Amino acid sequence: MNSEIICVGTELLVGDILNTNVKYISEKLAAIGINLYYQTVVGDNHKRLKEVLEAAYKRADLVILTGGLGPTIDDITKEVVAEYHNEKLVKVDKYYDILAKRYKQMNAEVPAGGIKEVSILENSRLLENEVGIAPGFLYEKDNKITIVMPGPPREMTVMLDKEVMPELLKYSNDLIRFRTLKIMGVPEGKVDEDLAEYFVMSNPTVAPYAKTGEVHVRIGAKGENEEELIREIDRIEKEIREIYPDNIYTTGDESFNDVVVRTLREKGLTLATAESVTGGKIADYIVGVSGASKVYKGGFITYSNEEKENLLGIDKEKIDKYGAVSSEICMEMLLGTERKIPADIYIVSTGVAGPDKDEKGNEVGTVFIGLSIKGEKSIRKYDYSGMRNAIRERAVRAALLELWK
Ligand code: ATP
Ligand code: MG
Repeated sequence: MNSEIICVGTELLVGDILNTNVKYISEKLAAIGINLYYQTVVGDNHKRLKEVLEAAYKRADLVILTGGLGPTIDDITKEVVAEYHNEKLVKVDKYYDILAKRYKQMNAEVPAGGIKEVSILENSRLLENEVGIAPGFLYEKDNKITIVMPGPPREMTVMLDKEVMPELLKYSNDLIRFRTLKIMGVPEGKVDEDLAEYFVMSNPTVAPYAKTGEVHVRIGAKGENEEELIREIDRIEKEIREIYPDNIYTTGDESFNDVVVRTLREKGLTLATAESVTGGKIADYIVGVSGASKVYKGGFITYSNEEKENLLGIDKEKIDKYGAVSSEICMEMLLGTERKIPADIYIVSTGVAGPDKDEKGNEVGTVFIGLSIKGEKSIRKYDYSGMRNAIRERAVRAALLELWK
């Protein structure tokens, strides 16, 4: 079965809102092996929606529409679908009654728009809306299935999961199973090269997704037997793990920050920070994970040289001599934080985010990350390129990677 999604709404076209519905529906279709070949977005325009609908019926057996089920004049989806199939719109009493009650409390009659909102195509099957007032529907004609759902994601997602997916399962031929290996600390280009032979396979498939600072590799297998699919995915995962024994941080839902905090917590280790170039971002990433209070003790943002002196007790002469961006001062930041905050692990950052070189002539993108684990210290130097905030972001990732390893 081939499908197509049509999202209706001018607000989607003008960039007001992100089309999260299409992502949600696409994922669900993929998971049950229904092919999706087109996703269309069209504004609240009668003629253009009709054109899009016409095109969709030519190339898809299943057409899923979202948006435009409301009461206002620009909510036209149901009228256009009804007109296309030469069907009437009929009100669904259950929803109409709720609406009538609401209007009665305001001493008013339900307006025409309200009636439209609670109506569906005659000869279609009702799809319940547990969250809102506009019901959806499933309509079948000439071997084509049309599904119409409301636009608001909190309504659409519930309707899709509870009402639509059980229907669609009947039409899925194959099972598809996916697993995502989340890889940290390997550049995208390197993954492309290392896994090139995997990316051209057809079943199972392996595909890379570059995320900020990390690469996700998704393994997908399609077939009839669940156990066989899982075995295939296990096999590929094992091979890729042999290539990256130290970089796959999860195959689950956790983010890298989650994993870092969890790992520290499991080891019973506490952490303190002093940040210059990262300006508190390392602390922010850690504290952004629930359960961070078991791990994170506190830290300093010592952006200026004076505060490196004041807060961390670093000698002015040393800063003048080596410059704030140096392995020597990075080491001093570690020592200073150790004096101030008791913890098992310390991580500190200093660097040049740009736009200009620093006074000692360090290039933009020069970053030092210092790590102390139970007193054992190491300083690592990085030479990043890119814009200011990209450099800072990379520095944070590098620091977190140090913590994880
Ligand atoms: P309403 O009764 O609220 O008017 P509706 O079914 O008519 O619902 P729309 O008017 O198209 O839906 O959209 C209502 C709101 O739902 C939009 O303003 C937007 O916030 C959200 N929405 C609509 N479509 C999408 C989409 N594809 N992805 C994410 N959000 C969406
Ligand atoms: Mg609307």
